[in-house]
Amino acid sequence: MTERQRSRFIIKARNGLLTGAVVALLVLMLWQANWFVSLRLRLSNNYYVEQPTLGNIVLVAMDDATLTEFGSPLVWSRQRYADLLDVLTDGGAQVVTFDVLFSEARDAEGDAAFAESIEAARAAGVRTVLAASGRGRMASDDGQIQFTGELAPIALFADVADYVAYVNAYPDADGVIRRDMARGAANDIERLSLGVASYLSYFNMSSTLAAQVVTYTETTLQLPPDLTVPLDDDGFWRQNYFGRESRVADTFAVYSFRDVVNGEIDPTVFADKIVMVGLMNTTGAVDNYPTPMSRSGEMMAGVEIQANAIETLLAKIPLQEESQTAQIISFLVVALWVGLLGGVLRWYWTIAASVMVFLLWMVYASLRFSLTQTVVNPLHPNLALIFTTVGSVGVQLSIEIIRRQRVENLLQSLVQVSQQRMELDRIVPLIAQDLQSMTQAPHGALWFDTPDSGLTLRHTWGDGQSYDDVTQSAAQQLATVQADGAMAVPVVWQGQTLAVFTLSRDSKRPFGRVIRRQVERFAERLGANLDNALLYAQTQRQYQLVEGILSGSPAGILVFDSAFNLLHCNDAASEALQVEQAVTLDAMLDASCMAAADAEKLRDKLQQETDFRQEVKLDKKTYQVDALLMGDNRWIMTLGDISDLAELNQLKTRMIRMASHDLKNPLGRVVGYSEMIIDMDEGNLDDRSKLFLNRILQSAEEMKGIINEILDLEHVKSGQVTLEPMSMTNIVRNVIERHNADMSEKGQTFHADIAPDLPMIAGNYNLLMQAVSNLLGNASKYTPENGEITLRLYHQADSNTLRLDIQDNGYGMPEEAQAKLFTEFYRVRTEKTRDIKGTGLGLSLVKSVIDAHNGTIWVTSELDKGSTFSVELPVLSVS
Ligand code: ADP
Repeated sequence: MTERQRSRFIIKARNGLLTGAVVALLVLMLWQANWFVSLRLRLSNNYYVEQPTLGNIVLVAMDDATLTEFGSPLVWSRQRYADLLDVLTDGGAQVVTFDVLFSEARDAEGDAAFAESIEAARAAGVRTVLAASGRGRMASDDGQIQFTGELAPIALFADVADYVAYVNAYPDADGVIRRDMARGAANDIERLSLGVASYLSYFNMSSTLAAQVVTYTETTLQLPPDLTVPLDDDGFWRQNYFGRESRVADTFAVYSFRDVVNGEIDPTVFADKIVMVGLMNTTGAVDNYPTPMSRSGEMMAGVEIQANAIETLLAKIPLQEESQTAQIISFLVVALWVGLLGGVLRWYWTIAASVMVFLLWMVYASLRFSLTQTVVNPLHPNLALIFTTVGSVGVQLSIEIIRRQRVENLLQSLVQVSQQRMELDRIVPLIAQDLQSMTQAPHGALWFDTPDSGLTLRHTWGDGQSYDDVTQSAAQQLATVQADGAMAVPVVWQGQTLAVFTLSRDSKRPFGRVIRRQVERFAERLGANLDNALLYAQTQRQYQLVEGILSGSPAGILVFDSAFNLLHCNDAASEALQVEQAVTLDAMLDASCMAAADAEKLRDKLQQETDFRQEVKLDKKTYQVDALLMGDNRWIMTLGDISDLAELNQLKTRMIRMASHDLKNPLGRVVGYSEMIIDMDEGNLDDRSKLFLNRILQSAEEMKGIINEILDLEHVKSGQVTLEPMSMTNIVRNVIERHNADMSEKGQTFHADIAPDLPMIAGNYNLLMQAVSNLLGNASKYTPENGEITLRLYHQADSNTLRLDIQDNGYGMPEEAQAKLFTEFYRVRTEKTRDIKGTGLGLSLVKSVIDAHNGTIWVTSELDKGSTFSVELPVLSVS
């Protein structure tokens, strides 16, 4: 036991003893105030010998009729007693007391019969008390009766009878016997009086109790419950010491000896009775002994006197009761002992221990009673037991309830905290505090799961240890783990360990089941809340991260909900738009300095509900707006400042334009002069000069072509394209006409599949001619001789567009080339197309033209198998 445990034990024990003492005091006070009197009386009745009715004694009288029929008992055979005893045994008598044995004639047969009957009676549970009459009877100096001769005829039956007692109920002729009404001695053998012996026999008590039934002092004879018989002037108890008159006539049932033996009496009248057999109503004539007079002067036979004596004794005699002092002491001992147990044990053990104390008490009380017939009144110790148990269990339970309430309260407060976004920093100390008060664990550590670094130590108390091993294994097993006096309880939520509470104490003894259950329950209840807290912490971190990225981003970022309410706007965006408090897109566009046309276009595109990219001008700056439609119909818009790029682009365009323009004129002159020389001097020129001139002309024409293509491209890209209603069919037919000859020349087969009655489009004739021509030209150019080219033009109802497919079975191109195909100056270089001339500008012009018509273009191609270029153009909407 550690110092701490010892002092806790002492405190508990002291509290328990205090509880016991307080309860004991209270109960004692109530007791003193006679609060328990009625209860006590009721209970104590059980500890008195039950008050018998007078019907307990039946007399069998050797009356005149008996003497007349059988003659004097002084001479008859003891066979008569045997006959009588047999009848009484048959009837089920409890005690048979013979007050009548004298020094009858000896008769071996009769004696044997009597002894046999006594044995049979004993075997049947009938106790026999035989009267010892003594020859040579005298009083000793100290007043005790003394027999000088042998006891006759008792010696014959002493071994078989239950009791042998003296007939000493009356003053004898010499006046000595009277002093020895209760007991006497002969040949150093103590003997009881017939009455006391019958009484004890009736309750099956040992003779050692006689002293408690009748007690003597020098001058008095004390009979329970409160009869004191004083000695008379002569030093004798002259009166009937049992204090009652002979009441034979009105109290005892009397049957004639003769009638009983002759079977004239139903033997069941003797059932459970003390049957006393003796001389009666004989007026003393039957024997030599004078019969004492009753107080009223009537003759009183010995048997009546004995019957009266038994009756007196039977009248409510309390058995010895434990003294008050002893009872109070035992009460206090029990109260304090149970209080002590209640202090140091748990409530259920207290109850178990109280039951044990109760049982021990009962064993003690019954032992005391059976050994000494002393009644240990069980009321007071049991009261102490019951009250103290109830008291200390009550105290314990209320402490338990308060503790549980505390846990509940904490959980409640945790729930409340979690409802207002549980912050881990705030609840960690709360959890630690409560675990400490719940378990009294002097050391502990709290671990929490974090997404970045797993289970991390967050808080410790006591020795500051982290208990890594137990903690880790509890986290892995998702169950409580105990080792070396440390206990790790995981907080598990949806199959995952969120946290581990690790508690430890100074000894290596494991934590008890109750504490463990409590912590586990706490952890269970905490699961959902903690999950919230951890999630909140995580979200908070992520939010801060996103927030940081957003606000730090040089690009403007705006988020709108589906109704175009502004949900978020970072610094860069509000700076670019120069708006601060706009709440809707419209308000924002109105407040911003965006060019009206750009704003209009932006609104239009947003209505179309697909991602898009648009350039807008804001206060002399150019921004690229990328609009992304999110799953939940929110729009995310980024504003990238591309002013520098735009400027560069413009510069490039201007330069190209200038260069092209400036090149065009000298080139025109080269062509013009070359043609002039050829026309004018055709005859003067030798063949070599002619060949060179023609090559110059051809190169100049090619250069012009390139310059024109560049100018066309820039023209289209600058956005200065005017559109008007026109027929795509026309354009396509014109293009075919332009290329027919080339294709036939190459031996290529051409199919055109043009749907009839196609709707009009909004287009620019020259540009579209150029674009389609480029595509068909490419198809022919990149298809070997005798190849096959197909053109299809048709209406697509679902998207209301015109679709143009130009398909060839020529050289095709590798997949990686297709992505870059439409960029300027890009050419695919394969084995077979290497020698084909071109600029790489054609397709980028086509793409720009199609873009300018709000159309789309794409290619599907496979190397050596052929390509298909597809174009979709929106149909002119008739408004
Ligand atoms: P140019 O034809 O002047 O090289 P284009 O922009 O018209 O430039 O075409 C770019 C490249 O695309 C060509 O060099 C060619 O390799 C490839 N190409 C275009 N059309 C076809 C086609 N129908 N089949 C195979 N390759 C093609």
